[in-house]
Amino acid sequence: TAAYQDLIQILKHPLFKVDELCSNLQKLKSYRQKLPLMEIQSHMVPINIHKTPSTSKEITRTYYFSLTEHLIRILQNPSINSKLYFGPGVYNEVCEEFWHGNLWAESPLFGQSKIVTEKGNFVCGDFICYYASNNNVKYGQIRSFIMVKGILKAQIQRLLTFDEIPLHFKSQDRLMNASKKLWMLEETILPIIDILNIVDHCIIWLEDNILPSYYNFSIAEIIYKFNNRWKIRGISLHHQHPIEHLQLQDPPFGIPVLKFFLDLYYDDFGTFRNTYHSLGGVYLQIGNMSQKLRKQLQNHFIIGLVPFGANIHDFIKPFLEEVRQLEHDFVITINNKKYWLKGGLGIVTADLPQGNDIAGILRHNAKYGCRSCYAAKEDLTNISFDTILNSRYHQITNLQFKEIQELNSNNARIQRSTELGLRGPGPLDPYIHDRHLHIPQDPYHAVAGKVARFLECTCSILTSQGESSIIQYWKAFETPRKWARLPNPIKHRHSFMISDVLRLSMILPFILKRCLHSGTIKSEYLTVTKERLSLSHQNNVIKKLVKTWALVAKASKEIFSTIILQPGYYDNLSQMNIMLFLNFGNLPNLHINRHLVDHARNYGTCTNMSVGIKEMVHRIFKGIVPHTNKHNLELILLQQINTFQTLRYLTNGGLDDQGQHSTIFANIIADPKLKNLLSGWYIKNYNLSIHSNEEESLDNDADNVENSDNTSLITNMTLIRCSDIYLRSKWCLQDIEAAGFISPNLHKNGLLGEIMQVYFSYYSMDQALLSTHIHFYNSASYTIKKDGDYQKIEVHIGDVVEIALVENESGFASVDAIIKHRGNDEQDYVFIYITWFEDISRQDELLLCPIYQLQKDTNHSWYRIHPISTVKSTSEVLFVHNCDSRCTADHHETSNFKYIQNNFLFTAI
Ligand SMILES: [Zn+2]
Ligand SMILES: [Zn+2]
Repeated sequence: TAAYQDLIQILKHPLFKVDELCSNLQKLKSYRQKLPLMEIQSHMVPINIHKTPSTSKEITRTYYFSLTEHLIRILQNPSINSKLYFGPGVYNEVCEEFWHGNLWAESPLFGQSKIVTEKGNFVCGDFICYYASNNNVKYGQIRSFIMVKGILKAQIQRLLTFDEIPLHFKSQDRLMNASKKLWMLEETILPIIDILNIVDHCIIWLEDNILPSYYNFSIAEIIYKFNNRWKIRGISLHHQHPIEHLQLQDPPFGIPVLKFFLDLYYDDFGTFRNTYHSLGGVYLQIGNMSQKLRKQLQNHFIIGLVPFGANIHDFIKPFLEEVRQLEHDFVITINNKKYWLKGGLGIVTADLPQGNDIAGILRHNAKYGCRSCYAAKEDLTNISFDTILNSRYHQITNLQFKEIQELNSNNARIQRSTELGLRGPGPLDPYIHDRHLHIPQDPYHAVAGKVARFLECTCSILTSQGESSIIQYWKAFETPRKWARLPNPIKHRHSFMISDVLRLSMILPFILKRCLHSGTIKSEYLTVTKERLSLSHQNNVIKKLVKTWALVAKASKEIFSTIILQPGYYDNLSQMNIMLFLNFGNLPNLHINRHLVDHARNYGTCTNMSVGIKEMVHRIFKGIVPHTNKHNLELILLQQINTFQTLRYLTNGGLDDQGQHSTIFANIIADPKLKNLLSGWYIKNYNLSIHSNEEESLDNDADNVENSDNTSLITNMTLIRCSDIYLRSKWCLQDIEAAGFISPNLHKNGLLGEIMQVYFSYYSMDQALLSTHIHFYNSASYTIKKDGDYQKIEVHIGDVVEIALVENESGFASVDAIIKHRGNDEQDYVFIYITWFEDISRQDELLLCPIYQLQKDTNHSWYRIHPISTVKSTSEVLFVHNCDSRCTADHHETSNFKYIQNNFLFTAI
């Protein structure tokens, strides 16, 4: 199965590390007693005997780590605690972190909930009147207090008077008593006002609440936009402000407040492979860490492993008890300093079925199996189905649970549950303030599911000639060097890994544009679709298909980007898919895409709720299973992880039990191998596998081990602001000639003048060069320091790179040669010899990607030699040939200098 291959693929690397980890741990065993380990807690849970071998007991002991202990450990770790963000929500155009999302800003558990002004105290959720931009007094609700460029402001949900509502809502009914009425306005981008512009409180009666003794205005309806049209709905249908679920407590005076945003992940996979070793995992991440930190393996904290047959409900009880404590806040002392701890569950993720269980909704294949709305099966991809009007609202679901519980027969209860798509309150229910918001569906699977479906539809209309043509073009297609080979998109599409599906969507629009014509698509489909879409020519059907693929690729990229997503975009896209393929639709995975934009707003970006990395982490832990004694393996796993995390804690400068910096471990930790293990684990973006830094460098050196003459290390790089340039695979004369150069001599290549110019303009060295000898290499790698972090840059011959020019300008160029030259100061300098791509300000009309023109060999109006440090660290760029009729699948017409930039590349996790 796909999942199994997925697993094997990923385990290949980590297993190697895991072995090493275990053997190192053996060495450390004697020291183990002295480690300041975390305490492993345990409790008894019932197990379902039908799922386990018959000899099993009906009750079993499970092991877990305490939440509080995790948090204290994190706060005591000097290399993490300085990087945690505790503060109000932040308004940012680049949305990357949890605190850039609405949920953080609005909830008193995470963001700032109260301000004190001259006009009194204001709490988020309060109704107010305020001065709008033109000094008119307006009404609104404070959604949150957020930082805008370092200044605390208020984000407002506007309340409209009768005069202000859209004209077609101004009915006689609404006019009655209009002076006492307001309408809530739902906008995607809420207005932000200065705190100074808040005038006063205002007492509002939301008509779904009990009538208060006094009020200024009442609100009965919400005005909202759906499919670009204004609509209206009752006030009971709104997501309540988090403040309505929580009691505010003022922190004790003078004690720093630390609010923790908990990100809980539950994985229950393992129904394949060896079921006796199947384990669920409950993991914790801290949303106060930046996305970059959260991606690191070491920052995935384990709560515990759920033994086979046990229920998450039972397992998680002690953890939830601690969440409750955290919600009600408590004071801790760390290094003799007091802190006020607060926080709660900010986000809970799991796979689609388990996520629905936790949210209390029936599984996704039920009639009403969406955890965000009441879309029936047949409406899943119906664009006119109003997901806002038919949204699930927490307070209403509560009433429904109650209603079901009070029914007197079991049959009646089952029937009503089916009608509403409800399963019953989930295990986290009392700790989740809005089960329909805090448990978002996974975008990684949703987007890939959509692409896979579209691929399936596309394949179904190909003729056999079309199939072989796609394979032929796909084989020869220009893919990024860092990608592993993709499986055959036609034959193996059913067993694709998610990462493969996403990658295929980034190149397929280009491939289709090259190879689709009327012979490659079934004529029946062309005829019918041309009629159905009222197109003038069958060719237009093909064009539409390519264009839709381009839009799918663009949308997939956007959903994982840091831009603020626009509503409706994905709906339009589905509409287009459905127009092309009548059988495209009504799948839960496709439907989820409709909710992603809202989720992204709550959590900053879709990347923050993707389970991709978390799934891999769970696989790694499961990967340790075969190496342990099978008896009591949950405990053994936790002990190993405990040791691992404690060593990490000590290497990071944490204190041991006596409050001392560890000296015993200083030596062991200095062992570079172990250090790499502990600090180097990270998840490599581009090939979705897990490596350590060390392993990565081994990979790269593998080719060159035999001949060390071939490689060169330059360490003194003060002048060019980067360190340790590794040069690999030196060219021999044959290589040099094959690449179109003449000899390892600047003069003979006619490059002397240009390189002197480079020395002058980049290094202010204005003198004749003493040496004209140069060396050519195939690749180079080096490290630069950017925003306090080290980043590794690799350059290979043939790569297209972005080059930094003066005044923040940059350009794209293809690397033709990597040159080392010894400067007059006896220091080595490394340059690249490039061919520029010129932006000709045109776009491909189907792919909507910019077209560039490659600099001709004879054109020397732009310098071709630049220091290697001008290569920007941005992610990969890719140019593909803008083929014309003279090109074939694997041969491109060399007199055609036009290239299209592939704008669809992205890394999903
Ligand atoms: Zn839905
Ligand atoms: Zn071509």
